[in-house]
Amino acid sequence: MSAPLRSIEDLDLEGRRLFLRVDFNVPLDGGRITDDTRIRAALPTIEFAIERGARVVLASHLGRPKGERVEALSLEPVAARLAELLTSGEVLLTDDCVGDGARKVVGDLRDGQVALLENLRFHAEETQNDSGFAQQLARLADAYVNDAFGAAHRAHASVAALPGLVDEHAAGLLMIRELEVLDRLRDAPPHPFVALVGGAKVSGKLGVLEALMERVDSLLVGGAMANTFLAARGLEVGRSRVEEDKLALARSLMERAEQSGVDFLLPVDVRLGSSLEAQDAQIAEVDAIDSQAMALDIGPATTELFAQRIRAAGSVFWNGPMGLFENPAFAEGSLGVATAMAQAPGFTVVGGGDSVAAVCQAGLAAQFDHVSTGGGASLQYLEGHRLPGVEALNP
Ligand code: ADP
Ligand code: MG
Repeated sequence: MSAPLRSIEDLDLEGRRLFLRVDFNVPLDGGRITDDTRIRAALPTIEFAIERGARVVLASHLGRPKGERVEALSLEPVAARLAELLTSGEVLLTDDCVGDGARKVVGDLRDGQVALLENLRFHAEETQNDSGFAQQLARLADAYVNDAFGAAHRAHASVAALPGLVDEHAAGLLMIRELEVLDRLRDAPPHPFVALVGGAKVSGKLGVLEALMERVDSLLVGGAMANTFLAARGLEVGRSRVEEDKLALARSLMERAEQSGVDFLLPVDVRLGSSLEAQDAQIAEVDAIDSQAMALDIGPATTELFAQRIRAAGSVFWNGPMGLFENPAFAEGSLGVATAMAQAPGFTVVGGGDSVAAVCQAGLAAQFDHVSTGGGASLQYLEGHRLPGVEALNP
């Protein structure tokens, strides 16, 4: 277990410029925020800083502008939404995250006022972890707090190089909560510990499957990823998404599960469609998949099988949707496991961009013990990797 981090609660904030790195990387649809979960998740830390009389300087990235100013990726809609959510109702957006304009806005802040720096990734130096760029950011700060758990796995300037350049640094309330929950799952999960993994690709999640295999009692696999495992067992999976170059690896993972006595479950039935846009689903057992069909969701018997394990679990971690949930015809599996988790007596955690979106869409987020704002970060942490953004906060 890692040493406890210094918390924002330990800092003297009154009258000081607090550089607060947040994760406002929200999904946008033509300038409209489609899900403000990440903004809401940062509110307790922001309100805390305001109450303590800090001059709050918020910073975030949004999307992948690749080092150029891209108007569609301006934090403008985020500033507007944040102003609606804050008690003070006021957020000053700078025209750039560094330079004279930003320094002027920050220099004029009164105690308890909030500025939001424009998208950090409008500068390529951010993702390059450039020390000169970090120095420029440091000129806006008397103290530094990182609450951007979702960006903690990136060695970028605002999370890695910057903290060491500011006199005092600490973790925000969200960061601390995320790490507490994941530490518990990683180091002392209540058993039976059940992991539910789905989503698009085996390749992106092999590391986490291997790491989870060492720790869990049951490993339940759904989503497109399950097709590769079904194919590796020699089943016909039609035109389903399969990673041909991962079949051998899938086989060896299943052998490993068997040797270590892990209860490894694959779908027993699936929902089939003729294309990704199909409007209706046909249910089939996994040994009866038509050669022209695609498996786009787990079937009802599988949902029930997974739900039984979830209900009996001491703790459950879920990452990756069970099917193509963006299409309502193939959302049942993800909804079914989300509902089972919402009702389960054990400790329930969901992490991952799309799986969290599925849980929020279903209106079930409040019934989970924890909804992680960091997909990649939570997976890497559970795998046992050190996160650059967390390491940089060590005293
Ligand atoms: P997360 O963001 O939760 O980590 P991923 O990004 O790995 O999850 O995967 C999510 C994507 O996988 C979604 O777009 C979902 O539609 C897709 N997906 C899940 N199951 C299937 C399937 N059977 N066939 C095609 N796509 C799938
Ligand atoms: Mg995703």
